Amino acid sequence: MSLNGKTAVITGSNSGIGLGIAWEMARAGANVVLNSFTDNEEDHVLARQIADETGVSARYIKADMSKGAECRALIGQAGDCDILINNAGIQHVAPIDQFPVEKWDAIIAINLNSAFHTTAAALPMMRKAGWGRVVNIASAHGLTASPYKAAYIAAKHGIVGMTKTVALETAEEPITANAICPGYVLTPLVEAQIPDTMKEYDMGREEVIRNVMLARQPSKEFATVEQLGGTAVFLCSDAAAQITGTTISVDGGWTAL
Ligand code: NAD
Repeated sequence: MSLNGKTAVITGSNSGIGLGIAWEMARAGANVVLNSFTDNEEDHVLARQIADETGVSARYIKADMSKGAECRALIGQAGDCDILINNAGIQHVAPIDQFPVEKWDAIIAINLNSAFHTTAAALPMMRKAGWGRVVNIASAHGLTASPYKAAYIAAKHGIVGMTKTVALETAEEPITANAICPGYVLTPLVEAQIPDTMKEYDMGREEVIRNVMLARQPSKEFATVEQLGGTAVFLCSDAAAQITGTTISVDGGWTAL
């Protein structure tokens, strides 16, 4: 599967799933633009490592995905955007009547609004290039719910809905829009939830992982960032040219229950 000559912009890609997708895009031959809201030496080192190991061009561009103007500026600065991976995301867990307003606003801004802004900026470039792929990283929580994650679940259901609309608006063009719905993937976002969950359930780490976190994941295994990268690469391939406006679950059977 060759993505030679294509440019992939991956939001929120200095760690976790976004970084895993960037690696797989680069291994498939795409030039990559990494992003997060920081501007540390390590961020640029990640881009250099990808370029050195795969031979593609790789850059890191700082842009805060909680700010609409910066989302649009990221796409402008990238210059080309054949493949847009909307991946940036944060989480906060609290009952809805105690959910901090600023956390609600930040989650909706980063997990949902950013994809509106980047997609709006990228579509004209895709149209000009005559080819495009939008891949939104939603979640099993874009299709089902859990308590205490109101903002995240609202944002993820929202991005699944927006994906369908983008697909319909581009249906007669060589552009597709799809959402990947991962179950649990062991990344910093998930790792950060483990201590609180251990306290909440008064359990050890392994017990929390198997019986709480993976309780709804029948495979009892975390998905890997490489598997998500491979799924994103597949959605960018010719084989997936007629796959648009849909979701692909990578969740070990979670949504089959
Ligand atoms: P992560 O914390 O490792 O990565 C999140 C990325 O988003 C980081 O690169 C972070 O720097 C970036 N980010 C956060 N705020 C940002 C901002 N304001 N501007 C720009 N970038 C910002 O977590 P992850 O698990 O890799 O999550 C990536 C995506 O996958 C998220 O959308 C998340 O909801 C989704 N997801 C994760 C899982 C999982 O189990 N890990 C499951 C389903 C969906």
